[in-house]
Amino acid sequence: MKLKRVKPDQAKGKRVLARVDFNVPIKGGRISDDGRIVSHLEMIDALSGAGGRLTLVSHLGRPKGKTPELSLKPVATRLEELIEKPVTFVHDCIGDEVNAAISSLKDGDILLLENVRFYPQEEKNDPQFAKALALPHQMFVMDAFSAAHRAHASTRGVAEYLPSFAGSLMCREVEILSVVRDDPKHPFALILGGAKVSDKIGVIENMLSKVDVLIIGGGMAFTFLAAQGLSIGRSLCEHDKIDFAKEMLKSAKDKGVKLFLPVDVAVANEANESAERRIVPIDQIPEDQMGLDIGPETIKLFCQALTGIKTVLWNGPMGVFELPPFKNGTEAIAKKLSELTAEGALTVVGGGDTAAAIKAAGCERAVSHVSTGGGATLEFMEGKLLPGIEPLLEK
Ligand code: ADP
Ligand code: MG
Repeated sequence: MKLKRVKPDQAKGKRVLARVDFNVPIKGGRISDDGRIVSHLEMIDALSGAGGRLTLVSHLGRPKGKTPELSLKPVATRLEELIEKPVTFVHDCIGDEVNAAISSLKDGDILLLENVRFYPQEEKNDPQFAKALALPHQMFVMDAFSAAHRAHASTRGVAEYLPSFAGSLMCREVEILSVVRDDPKHPFALILGGAKVSDKIGVIENMLSKVDVLIIGGGMAFTFLAAQGLSIGRSLCEHDKIDFAKEMLKSAKDKGVKLFLPVDVAVANEANESAERRIVPIDQIPEDQMGLDIGPETIKLFCQALTGIKTVLWNGPMGVFELPPFKNGTEAIAKKLSELTAEGALTVVGGGDTAAAIKAAGCERAVSHVSTGGGATLEFMEGKLLPGIEPLLEK
């Protein structure tokens, strides 16, 4: 997959509309994690530095109409600090005030529009809205990989009206994820965890014939264990996915994929910080307890299975890592991936919660790539051509 990568020179003196993902956590006007802003700095610096007149557009949260708490104003302030340049903010996305602000931009200037989801037309990919957003500009740069699975006005619609290019973050995501999906070095391991099997079915189906090792932990493992006839107590289970799990187990065997499931688990009465935690073998989960993390024998087994692996894709925590008593499994996998990276493996982490977990484990910089996408990364791995990427393809 080859993208039309924007060259900074192309932006010189041009009015450029750039789609970013500034969907950062904000409480009481304060940004608690600016990682998403930082992820776009390379593109912003390059285009503004080359003399582009940049209009940045993003969503924030899921507003129903104009919601003052979901204004992007605090992001403009943070962006100014990060790039050490003034950033103009306008309280709208289209209309006279916006058009005036765009016409007064000089080479290198940066303007941030208000939360594009304040307009319901955004998520409907309304053509009139997309046109109004696009028209004051001369080119479009799509840098928001994490929003590329959505065919919205600002991620897809505007591309109908402007020559469209990929920003540097978009290019990096697509490049690395394409290697993992289409051309991985073997042996290749896929590690899946998290809450739900149903979120990951497409990924399993697309990747099963490509991987050598499949490791399943987290809440989703219990549906597979139930499919093998084990009693899982009150652990998470998707009963309507047990048949899928059975088929998958058989298919993995037929394809010669080495499949690893937990052999012991940390159980408790309920998922809270002060819960009394016990380690039990997988076939001895008490009726009234639930599995909330993989156990120490499983950690050993999974780490052994990963030894010598050349490519790893990890999506989904091994346990309820948000609670300290149940974070060991997730931390151990994060550490193992860091080791593999140091040995030259390509290690890629995807998913919103998994990215937060690798950060919490202090291993964010020790792996090859932490994808900024959640849903987008999963859909990419399912083999889909994302609607926000399609207009960026080199024909
Ligand atoms: P991602 O956002 O990385 O794709 P998911 O959303 O699929 O990951 O899963 C993350 C969630 O799964 C976390 O909130 C975590 O607490 C939960 N989880 C992991 N293991 C278990 C478990 N054994 N029981 C219940 N929830 C779990
Ligand atoms: Mg999640």
